[in-house]
Amino acid sequence: MARHFVIVGAGECGARAAMALREQGFDGDVTLVGGETHLPYERPPLSKHGMLAEVFAAKTIATAERLAEANVGFRGGVQVAAIDRGGKRLLTADGTALPYDKLLLATGASPRRLPGVEGERIFYLRTLEDAQRLRGELLPGRRLAIVGGGFIGLELAASARARGAEVTLIEALPRLLSRAVPEAIAAQIQARHELAGVKLVFGDGIAGVTSDANSATVALNSGRRVEADLVLVGIGAVPNISLAAEAELEIDNGIAVDRHLATSDADIFAAGDCCSFPLKIYGGRRVRLESWRNAQDQGSLAACNMLGANEAISTVPWFWSDQYELGLQIAGLSDEGASIVRRDLGNGASILFHISADGRLVAASGIGVGNAVAKDIRLAEMLIAKQARPMQASLADADVKLKSLLAA
Ligand code: FAD
Ligand code: NAP
Repeated sequence: MARHFVIVGAGECGARAAMALREQGFDGDVTLVGGETHLPYERPPLSKHGMLAEVFAAKTIATAERLAEANVGFRGGVQVAAIDRGGKRLLTADGTALPYDKLLLATGASPRRLPGVEGERIFYLRTLEDAQRLRGELLPGRRLAIVGGGFIGLELAASARARGAEVTLIEALPRLLSRAVPEAIAAQIQARHELAGVKLVFGDGIAGVTSDANSATVALNSGRRVEADLVLVGIGAVPNISLAAEAELEIDNGIAVDRHLATSDADIFAAGDCCSFPLKIYGGRRVRLESWRNAQDQGSLAACNMLGANEAISTVPWFWSDQYELGLQIAGLSDEGASIVRRDLGNGASILFHISADGRLVAASGIGVGNAVAKDIRLAEMLIAKQARPMQASLADADVKLKSLLAA
């Protein structure tokens, strides 16, 4: 029987899922529908080397040839407007109906907007167009005000300084990256930004932003005003749930899926930034991850489960950030930890191991130049997956190989 699997969202997750369906031997029709006109492309370079490279070129995830070879029908520039669950079809914005047997929602996330803060001098960063527009503005001496001390704000601050722009970054809380990154590492990142000449403003909220065609002013709650040529708002991302919500699928901080990535409709799956799911290694705690590897892993898993594999999510969360010469990597959920054990790797590199109240290794956060922490974070990830309870003295001692703890 011919079957038609449709994927909505041609980002990291959707593109991976389409290719994985073929790798798994699926021989029915595969249609990948993307609201953006481009072939699927990588987002991480948009705030990092993409901003710095001499020639700005998108890093394509799947070329037209690869998609054609895999017989994936790619429909770019097509916005899906509704899911008709009863009729098992999608309705696109131009009124076309697209039938499906199984559907994957990989609709990702969109930048959280500051209400009413829009205009020629105001920038958000999610898409290739956003990055291209922003890049053209980052010129020597330009004054950039950044709202939000999260990943977008900090990676952009580093790129903007490298391009010679003047940067003021405003964070409402007393420190950077308060949600995902432990205090000691955030302090190291802060020091590096200060060394690069980024002006950091902490503990002050945004009272309002005004702008015209040439400049913008950020007014802070304290009464202070930051004058700028452009403003980048990086205050988090919100999952794209409207299709799912209007189709009355269950929503819970994103499209709610079970451990097999199935939504409350057995023929509809969701994966990547748009969904929340239970994580077995943390007692079934429901999380939504906004990270590149999660989008890839869930794309592959969704493809397998659309084909009936019934495999459960078993991955350990992992993400990275590059700022200046520093590489940050975090495996696991650090907020599950009750205490921290530190391992110094030399040359300013270190790993913080997050230990739960009952002695389990639940996360590891590492920072160092380049890839200094990559190998140990990989091993820590394996220990976390094993739900290991390594000796804390061994974790602290850089002479003890993490590999040996894995074998123990
Ligand atoms: P997305 O990449 O958001 O793709 C979803 C796609 O679905 C979009 O193209 C959207 O247009 C489309 N879509 C949505 N609704 C519809 C609809 N109704 N009809 C048709 N199409 C639709 N993660 C890391 O781990 N490390 C990093 O260093 C890192 N850097 C990043 C830098 C930037 C600038 C950004 C923006 C993100 C970064 N991330 C990073 C996060 C990572 O890129 C995301 O987690 C990942 O892209 C999520 O993939 P996704 O496919 O779930 O969603
Ligand atoms: P983020 O990392 O979640 O950081 C958001 C920042 O904005 C936080 O400092 C947050 O502080 C602050 N904030 C939240 N609401 C605010 C408000 N109403 N007013 C002012 N400040 C507010 O999100 P992001 O940096 O905007 O990144 C957007 C997306 O891109 C995310 O999906 C992120 O994962 C992804 N991305 C990832 C990477 C990476 O992993 N390396 C790099 C770039 C982008 P509070 O803690 O006070 O809320």
